[in-house]
Amino acid sequence: MTDVARASALGSTGAIELFQLLRDGQPRTRAELATLTGLGRSTIGLRVDELMELGLIAPVGDAISTGGRPSSQFALNAGARLVLAADLGASHASLAITDLSGTMLVQRSGVIDIADGPETVLAWLVDAGLAMLDDIGRDRGDLLAVGIGLPGPVQHSSGQPINPPIMPGWDRFDVPGWVQQHLEVPVLVDNDVNIMALGERAVAWPGTEHLVFVKVATGIGSGIISGGVLQRGAQGIAGDIGHVQIPRASGIACHCGNRGCLEAIASGPAIASALRATGVEVETGRQVVELVKRGNLDAIQAVRQAGRDIGEVLTACVSLVNPSVIAIGGSMAQAGEHLIAGVREVVYTRSMPLATEHLSIVQSAAGADAAVIGASMLAIHHAMSPERT
Ligand SMILES: [Zn+2]
Repeated sequence: MTDVARASALGSTGAIELFQLLRDGQPRTRAELATLTGLGRSTIGLRVDELMELGLIAPVGDAISTGGRPSSQFALNAGARLVLAADLGASHASLAITDLSGTMLVQRSGVIDIADGPETVLAWLVDAGLAMLDDIGRDRGDLLAVGIGLPGPVQHSSGQPINPPIMPGWDRFDVPGWVQQHLEVPVLVDNDVNIMALGERAVAWPGTEHLVFVKVATGIGSGIISGGVLQRGAQGIAGDIGHVQIPRASGIACHCGNRGCLEAIASGPAIASALRATGVEVETGRQVVELVKRGNLDAIQAVRQAGRDIGEVLTACVSLVNPSVIAIGGSMAQAGEHLIAGVREVVYTRSMPLATEHLSIVQSAAGADAAVIGASMLAIHHAMSPERT
């Protein structure tokens, strides 16, 4: 794998990035870009020239009116190049080809078994991606980058999954290197919750610099955007809130080997299991959501309690990172307000008033598309960031 593929997808170029500014398609001058990003005029000048050369941004406006000098305004040339975005789950994959603004041009989903191993799954991904390009009359030469979300821990510096519990055969596999051999563009890999955080921000909170995305499904995890930058931590594990201990889970075994984890009591399977113990016939998290939608009181109460349990851990997150938005997504979020209400109940009661004064706790707006849009953002951010050149 090249240094290009290893480079940070969300560069540390300032609180607001060039790409964030250009993504809305609005033309801006070099001076405006310098002011808004906080970067020096010369740095912006160099970046603008580089991005122009790559065809990713284009001059806008009437050159004649400026006396024949080059146009002073620039905007994202969204259709110039394309990105392949993939969200790989345990048994299901969602793919999209997007333009440089993250708009999906074509989408495809497929049944996969992540346990088939990296080469089988990634070969399918490459073939499907090329077929999708063909569907819209484009080819591999139009591809700028690939973004991939995986359902397990990913070491950010290498893009390799590290001891992923549900991905046999993937441990330390060079995912970026393998895909890059076949598609010959930079390949960015991250865990699914991190890319969901990026997708949620892109869809619903583009101006928000402090956002925590919480995925509640078979597992529980979070993606933290702080100061406009996705926080991965030293090893890429930042935001892994599912294995924080909470008192109500005391003594309950978790699949991670510990006891008392949040995930052991508030994930979809954990809620289903607790309901079964009270005589409700339910096997999976999805069935719990169905019961909630049908108004089953036991299920509603169990989901609300899970929300409170998640709220316990999120209260600590609020104290640590002071987000202005907590977005709750993942399959259990489809239980709607009952889960969110439990989270709000605890977070608003336990946090310092200043921390919650402007804190929104909401259901994910991006929904099922959060991950694939986020994978696209990951790839586009990289392509537009200074580390690329
Ligand atoms: Zn655990």
